[in-house]
Formats: sequence, structure tokens, C-alpha cells
Amino acid sequence: MLEPERETLEKCVYCPKLCRASCPVSEQEGSETVTPWGKMSMAYFAGRGDVPQDAEHAESAWACTGCQACRERCNHKNDVAYTLGQARASHFAAGSAPRAAVRVAEGFDDHLAKTKRAVDAFDPEARASARVAVLVGCSYARNLAPEASRIFRLAQQMVGAEVRAIRACCGGPLLQAGDQVQLHSAVQRLREEVGDAHTLLVADPGCAHSLQEVFPRIAPEPPPVQLLLDYVYARLDRVPAAGLRKLAVRYHDPCKLGRGLGRYEEPRAILARLLGAPPSEMPRDRAQAECSGGGGLLPLTRPRTSAAIADARIAEHRAAGGGLLVSACAESIRRFRSRGEVAVDLLGLVAEAMGIEDDEGTP
Ligand code: SF4
Ligand code: SF4
Repeated sequence: MLEPERETLEKCVYCPKLCRASCPVSEQEGSETVTPWGKMSMAYFAGRGDVPQDAEHAESAWACTGCQACRERCNHKNDVAYTLGQARASHFAAGSAPRAAVRVAEGFDDHLAKTKRAVDAFDPEARASARVAVLVGCSYARNLAPEASRIFRLAQQMVGAEVRAIRACCGGPLLQAGDQVQLHSAVQRLREEVGDAHTLLVADPGCAHSLQEVFPRIAPEPPPVQLLLDYVYARLDRVPAAGLRKLAVRYHDPCKLGRGLGRYEEPRAILARLLGAPPSEMPRDRAQAECSGGGGLLPLTRPRTSAAIADARIAEHRAAGGGLLVSACAESIRRFRSRGEVAVDLLGLVAEAMGIEDDEGTP
């Protein structure tokens, strides 16, 4: 499984660790073992059989949020996040994945059923004839229900024709867990549900990044996707100008939207339209932006580190003057909220400015 990644792994193993300060996990833990170099070296040694493929040597493959900050600093643009994902798959297949990751894979059917129920709540009618499908994302649907409902209604308004919500999960949690066998079935299920829709709008950049950038390398024929954010950006004139001008907003670049999909200016343009002025910035932004700690299953595999990463971002936000922290991915918003910051979602904010209510009738 790791043989195709040998060159990438060897570049890291023989590297003077030029990216070490970029990794939120090793910065928080202060440990050499979980620097990008340390994690890639362990994956390399386990792949070669130099160390046993057991739980102890597997653990560091899950000490990664997938933020891609190390790739940004790397002269080779080495894709550590993807390669560690393949190391996870190898460990999972060998039975050495951490218990938290195995639980995610074992609970996937239950997760699917809960996601379907959550989507049914905001889109009860199954409009089979709709040719535009919307994947709000399981994390929005299950954990941020008011935002999920508003985002779906925003898509309905922007499209101006029948749309239908996808009730499946793209399989992202299985990718993070390392279960690529179930992942193939999840992608096929999603493809079947998309069916003859000519457009699949995706709200969560985590889902869009997996479907567009990762699954084509490991799973057969993921459906093509369009970011809902791009769809809104292309119709910026329909977003109320200065509709939220009284808000003091600071924008946090989600890793998968920014470094993952290269969308830095679009979210800022949408916010500038809403606010009548550009949003404030985090101390490090765009390609240098720092992770919320919510990705890669880190909240489950290393909860204290994940929380400390989020706390560091919140402290930076407050030290820079505070205001309303806006992000654009469900996991970041959940992570910030879980640490006491009132973070809000960018598309949810657009919906709010357009007077779109959630299922409870809350504007
Ligand atoms: S990602 Fe690049 S800079 Fe970082 S350890 Fe690997 S080769 Fe070196
Ligand atoms: S992708 Fe992010 S969390 Fe993972 S090793 Fe690189 S910098 Fe660290």
C-alpha cells in the first residue's frame, strides 16, 4: 500500500526537517516523534518492516489533522497528509489502527443512518426529478443543524430550480479512519444517489477536497463536484451588499478550503460584500493560515492536542481584537465552539443576510 509513496517517504526521512515549525500537532506536543519528519519516518520504517506493524508504531499516523501546512513549507511540496492517509490504510488493514479510528469505521452504518435522518429533517421531500443535488456534509447535518438547514435553503434560492439534498456521507470519516474497503462502498453509494443530477454542489470543503483531490487516487470514479461557495461567489450580486455591516468579523481560512482547494479570495470577497468592508485577518492567513485542530479525527485520537490547537487559534483571535470568528468548514466551527468561541459559518452568514430561516424559523 505504501510502495507508491516510497519516494515521498524517502524525501522526508532524509530531510533536515525544514517544515517542522509548521505542524500544529508537534508544536503543541513538543515532540519530535510527531513532526512531519517523525511521522513519515515511522510510516517508512513500518512499511519496510524495520519496526513491527503494531498499535505502538501505528499511532503517529493519526497524529495529523491533514492541514497541509507542512507541504506549504516543503521545497518538494511533499504531500505528507495524503501519505499518512495511506499509512493509516496500511495499519487499518493490518489490524493495528488506534481504537478510536476502528470505532469510527465500525460505527459507519449508524453514522449513515443518523446522517440520513438529519438531512430528512431539513429536506423531507425526495425530489427525484431534481437535476441539482446538494451535499451539505455529514458534519453540518449531524452537528450544526441550523446551519445545515440554512445552507440547503441558500442553495435552493441560488439555483432557483428544484434541488435535492444528498442523504449519504461521502466517506470522509472512513478515509481518516483508514478503512479504504468501506470507503469504496461509500463512494459507490454516493455516486448512485447523485444519479442523473448534472450538478453536485458541495458545502463542506472537507467533503469537496476528499471527492476532488483524494478519492480519485484511491477510490473508483467519485462524482464530480462544484463548491457551493464558488456557486455563491459567481452570483455575488445576489448577496445583500453591506447586509451585515455592523458586524466586526475575523476570517479563519479552513485548511481544506485554503491550502486544499486554493480558495482564499472567494470567501473574503463574499464577506467583504456582506460587511461592506474586508474582514479582519488572523495573524497568519491564506497559505500560512493555522489549523483549528478539528481535522483528521484528531479530536478523537488526540483530544487534548486537538483542543490545545483550537485554544491557540482562539487566543490569537482574541489577542488581535476579537469580534465574530467566521470560518467555512463544519469541523473548524465545531472545534472552536467546543472551546467556548462563538464561531459562525460563512455560508450560514450569507443565508442569514438573505433572510433565510432554519427549520425552527430562526433567521
Ligand atoms: S514535508 Fe518536506 S520539508 Fe517536511 S520533512 Fe518532508 S521533505 Fe522535509
Ligand atoms: S498535514 Fe498538518 S498536521 Fe499533518 S503532518 Fe503536515 S503540518 Fe502536521
